[in-house]
Amino acid sequence: MVERVYLAKPRGFCAGVVMAIQTVERASEEADGDLVVYHQIVHNETVVHRLEKERGVRFVEDLDELKNADNRPRTIVFSAHGVAPEVRRKAAELGLVQIDATCPLVTKVHSEARRYAALGYTILLIGDSADHQEVKGTLGEAPENTILVAVHTQVGKDPRLADPRTVQVPDPEKVLVLTQTTLSVDDTDATVAILKRRFPKLITPARSDLCYATKNRQDAVRRLAPKVDLFLVLSSRHSSNGMRLFELAEKLTRARRIDAPEDLREDWFTGVKSVGITSAASTPEDLVAGTLAWLKKRWPGLVVVEEGEWERIRFRKPRPRKPEEVLAELG
Ligand code: SF4
Repeated sequence: MVERVYLAKPRGFCAGVVMAIQTVERASEEADGDLVVYHQIVHNETVVHRLEKERGVRFVEDLDELKNADNRPRTIVFSAHGVAPEVRRKAAELGLVQIDATCPLVTKVHSEARRYAALGYTILLIGDSADHQEVKGTLGEAPENTILVAVHTQVGKDPRLADPRTVQVPDPEKVLVLTQTTLSVDDTDATVAILKRRFPKLITPARSDLCYATKNRQDAVRRLAPKVDLFLVLSSRHSSNGMRLFELAEKLTRARRIDAPEDLREDWFTGVKSVGITSAASTPEDLVAGTLAWLKKRWPGLVVVEEGEWERIRFRKPRPRKPEEVLAELG
C-alpha cells in the first residue's frame, strides 16, 4: 500500500523548453498554421503531438522534405537542441524565415567550438550518441576539428564515439573538451578526468557545459532516492536528460520510466510504501499531475511531500530572421 509520494523539485520544464514551446506557439499563431519545425521542438512525444494536433504545426527531420515549393512554409523554427550552420544555410537558401529556438546554453557550447576551432584546437566533444540532435549541431560548427567521445560508462554503445581512454589527437598541447548539456553529471566529470590525465594541457570550459536543469534534476533524484521504494521517471525515450535521470534513479533504488500515466501498472506497487516522482526537462507537468491522480485513486490516504526549490531562470524568445540576414552572417 502506497503511503507517501515524494515529488522531486525541481522537475519538468526548464527555461529552454518553456522558451522553445512558447516560440512555436507564438509563431504558429503568426504563421496561421503554415509553420514547420525542424526536428522535435523538445524531446517529448506528448508536446509534439499536442502542437501537431492543436496548432497544425508540421515537424520535419530533413530540409529536403521542403524542396518542393508546394510543400514549403514561409517560416521554420529550429528546435531547442540547436542546428549546424549548414542547416541554417540550407533553410536560408530555400527562402525560409528562421526562428532559432536553440537553448542559449547550447548556443554557448557552439560559440566555444567556433572560437577554439579558429585557434587550431582539437575539440573532444563528449556526447551520448552521434545521432543526438544537439551533438550533430555542435559537431557541425567545426567538423574538421571535432572528435566525438563517449561517456566512459557508455564506450562501445555507439561505435562512432571514441573511447576517452584511447582517443588520439593531432597535437596534445591544443585540446579542448566540450560536452552535450544533458549528460550524467558524475559520468561526465569522470570522463573529463580521464581525458585530463591523458592530455594535461586539456582546456575545460570555465563553467561546465552541463546545464543547470540537468544538474538540479539529478541532485533532486539523489536527495529523494534513499526515501523511496520506487522512483517513477516521466520521460520520453528520446530525452537525453530524462534517460540520465532514469539511469540515476535505477542506480540508487528501484525505478520505472513512463511516458504518461497510462503506462502505470498496479503490480509495480506490490510491497511499495513510498514512491518518488520526477520528470524530464521536456515533460509537461499535467503528466505528473495525472500520475499523482492515478496513485491517489488507488490509495486515497497517501501523503504528498514536495521538498526543494523551483528554478527562476527565464530565457528571452528569439526573433524571426530573414534568409538574406542569415546568409550574410554565414558568409
Ligand atoms: S535541458 Fe538544459 S540545455 Fe536543454 S533546453 Fe533545458 S536548460 Fe537548455
